[in-house]
Amino acid sequence: MESLQYIKGVGPKRAEALVKEGILLPRDLLLYFPRSYIDRNTASSIASLSKQLQNSNQKDLFESDVILYSEFVIIARIYMVQTVNLPGNRKMLKLVLRDNTGSVNIIFWNRIQFFEKIYQNGQLLLISGKPEIDKYGILNFSHPEIDIIDNEDEALFQKGVILPKYRISEGMANCGLNIKIIRQIISNIIDKELPHIVESLPDYILQQFNFPAIKSTIRNIHFPESKEMLEVSRSRVKFEEILYFLLHVELSKQRIKLNDFGFVINPKSKSARRLYDNLPFQLTSDQKKVIREIADDMESGKPMNRLLQGDVGSGKTIVALLTMLMVIDAGYQVVFMAPTEILAEQHYLNIKNMLKDFDIEVAQLVGGQKVKARRTILEKILDGTSKIIVGTHALFQSEVRYNKLAYVIIDEQHRFGVQQRADLIELAKQSYDDKQFIPHILVMSATPIPRTLTMTAYGDLDVSIIKSMPKNRKPIITSIKFESNLPEVYDFVRSQIKSGFQIYIVYPLVEKSEKMALKAATEHYEYLSNEIFKEFKCGLLHGQMFWYEKEDAMKAFLNKEYDILISTTVIEVGIDVPNANLMIIENAERFGLSQLHQLRGRVGRGGDQSYCILVTKDDFKYPLSSKTKIDDSKAVFTRLKTMTETTDGFKIAEVDLKLRGPGDIMGTKQSGLPEFKFIDLVNDADVIGIAKKTAYQIIETDPLLKNENNTILRNNLEKYIKHKTFFDIA
Ligand code: ADP
Ligand code: MG
Repeated sequence: MESLQYIKGVGPKRAEALVKEGILLPRDLLLYFPRSYIDRNTASSIASLSKQLQNSNQKDLFESDVILYSEFVIIARIYMVQTVNLPGNRKMLKLVLRDNTGSVNIIFWNRIQFFEKIYQNGQLLLISGKPEIDKYGILNFSHPEIDIIDNEDEALFQKGVILPKYRISEGMANCGLNIKIIRQIISNIIDKELPHIVESLPDYILQQFNFPAIKSTIRNIHFPESKEMLEVSRSRVKFEEILYFLLHVELSKQRIKLNDFGFVINPKSKSARRLYDNLPFQLTSDQKKVIREIADDMESGKPMNRLLQGDVGSGKTIVALLTMLMVIDAGYQVVFMAPTEILAEQHYLNIKNMLKDFDIEVAQLVGGQKVKARRTILEKILDGTSKIIVGTHALFQSEVRYNKLAYVIIDEQHRFGVQQRADLIELAKQSYDDKQFIPHILVMSATPIPRTLTMTAYGDLDVSIIKSMPKNRKPIITSIKFESNLPEVYDFVRSQIKSGFQIYIVYPLVEKSEKMALKAATEHYEYLSNEIFKEFKCGLLHGQMFWYEKEDAMKAFLNKEYDILISTTVIEVGIDVPNANLMIIENAERFGLSQLHQLRGRVGRGGDQSYCILVTKDDFKYPLSSKTKIDDSKAVFTRLKTMTETTDGFKIAEVDLKLRGPGDIMGTKQSGLPEFKFIDLVNDADVIGIAKKTAYQIIETDPLLKNENNTILRNNLEKYIKHKTFFDIA
């Protein structure tokens, strides 16, 4: 095979730079796909863009809609380059651009000397970014993405040619490899290299989705014949990438289904029926749907491995309990694990109470129980007297011996790792005579996970979702206040306490060291309890307290010994204090979106109207003039605004994913997700959904990929698993 350096336009230096990017052979160049395209047709005119924005423009930042995530593209020529002196020795660089419908400004706040050298009058630029309208009604882009379009390219795209844009690394740029030269090099080799690329999807799939063949796909990705051809080619590549990943996932799931036995549980359980008939409320249709899904799994003879997602307060516990009763009536034991002792206790008391007229023994197993009491508990678990065992991690210590433990529920945890699962299964197995069996596992989480991630990172689990809330819930009213409004906020606190409610005041830990954090927590508490809220009883809760001190503080709050609980984020997951109806979150700009949502879920748990007030710096009132970096203040703004607009955890999770990206949310390494080259976990939910269904159907009908029409899939999958790449080369 020809080596890179002999390709026309490459040579040894450039070849070396390309190797650093993982391009070793000419065919790798074919797979060096553009990251985006310059297409005359995707750009808006300045006039139409400013009209669009004006329609949604806002007077007051916190009162109206903003186009949150839209990126806009315009093509315009530089008309003026201007360096502007700002107060405080600061400078900004302003480019004024025009097309034949109007003008826009591009503003640089940083690296001004660098940009001054690059931009000159008369250059034609392609801009993509998020513009704002300034007080003179002019569109401003600050630090947008910019491509300079040279004369030759201009001629091409005036003709309507779609031009690919390649990622150019610093090393590539240093030896003169720019987008245009890469385009030329690829055009030099494509005719020679393309014949060596072998089709990597079966015919029936290409036909089913109307995808072009691989050769045509690759050609169109570099040199699009048309917008339509480019789009289907790109979809094919994305689909293919995610399909192989998902086939891999489905195959491992299938393997479990083929090899493992699950306890067959009859869903027609007398106890479940009885509890159901005596509930003081109607189950929501989502709750019923999920019970059905769990019952189906448990009846199937295969072990269940299911994630139940439902926002705080959506009613997951009763779903768990009803399905637990099915298992108990079938003669088995069940375990319910909570993340903290106090939550375990709450669940224990709650379940005991709901089953008080049933002849079913409920036990509690947590750390720190007295030796004698513990011994009795362990005995009752072992001889099978206790049917439901509620507890913390203590449940999974090796000295605990179960008696036919067939169902394990893990509450408030959305990542239950492979190893933890394996340990748990081992422990459960010791309680059976027949070691082929595997217990049913239900992991419950109140942290909504965006759909793209449940389909991929959580692909090994079946997922149930409770979307709708019980009818009697009043949505929490959320507002944003600036620090200068704090006196008002504190007045509201006083009025709520006087009406008999309790209040959370939460603030972030900003200090680097634990010592300083502790000091900050204590100082804040002293200030609030001694100065602002002298007349009320205040409690303190922070991360540096011992676990039992934390639990004591929470319990005291629950028992109404405090009016106000001043706390760091440690209350995030936790306890139900129905009487708390107001949460103040200070320095709200420092919290992540999901975290804000989790915190807010601590109120609104009784029937009363609840409130959440997000307090932030006055700085954020005027993002353009504040000293904070523009992108940061926009992200803050988006987070706070989203909180006021919705209480739907799934919507919030999607926004969060868009703001932070999947790597940050999941910790990509930890999640077991490969780094996808083409699939975008933020925006490609549709493609992923279709691929998921396809992968499922394929493995369902041909579990070992033995059918002739799946030969391509089987061969490539083996390669995929080994190399994480799937374009076959003859
Ligand atoms: P979470 O999903 O956060 O664990 P819980 O299971 O603790 O929520 O339920 C919150 C509260 O809502 C509980 O007091 C529970 O009894 C109540 N609840 C559950 N389902 C319904 C329903 N369908 N209608 C009314 N209240 C419900
Ligand atoms: Mg719960």
